[in-house]
Amino acid sequence: MSFVSSLMYFFAGFIIAFLFPRIPIIMITRGKGFNLAFPEHPAPVPLSPKLTQRVLHMRMIYWMGFIVSFIPLLFGLASVKWGNPAFGFGLWISSGWFILSRLQTFIGGAKPPWTLEMAQRLQTIADDTKSVQKCCPMPVAEWRILTVSCARCDAKLSDMPRPDLGRKRMDGFFLGGFRLLMTDGYPVIDFDDDSKNTNSDSEE
Ligand SMILES: [Zn+2]
Repeated sequence: MSFVSSLMYFFAGFIIAFLFPRIPIIMITRGKGFNLAFPEHPAPVPLSPKLTQRVLHMRMIYWMGFIVSFIPLLFGLASVKWGNPAFGFGLWISSGWFILSRLQTFIGGAKPPWTLEMAQRLQTIADDTKSVQKCCPMPVAEWRILTVSCARCDAKLSDMPRPDLGRKRMDGFFLGGFRLLMTDGYPVIDFDDDSKNTNSDSEE
């Protein structure tokens, strides 16, 4: 096998293993029937039990991708041993990298784009809009790109940027899918990330 064809097999394996664990997030939730409860992307999403549930679903699908990523890892090992070593190595490197990056969460790395705390926080904000200290007489909390705000009085209720919520993206399936591959579902607009992290750390 020539060097060039080895290289091509390597990249084929690399790309397949790159896409494989990310496909659930890109495919599963984009259907129309799945998103009837939400306004179209990129409009703000009103806070509701459905939205909380969606965050939890996205979180589940995210971790499903992690479990699924062991398939190309094992295929890669088998291919290195018995099949095309370059292809297997590509699979193996790519899925190994993916698994390691996901595992970083547990040793203080970046949190996943969707977390249980996020769902709980949405619930707390929704409860607060019904409490005594609400921002205006009839608050309507909605999740904008960078904040949770009241649609009526514009008061900022939380500065939690909105991750991808599985809605069909306005930039279309391919461009939207590509953007998701690049951002991994994290909020697309995320200014001064560092300062925000230090702030939230000091709050906790
Ligand atoms: Zn208000």
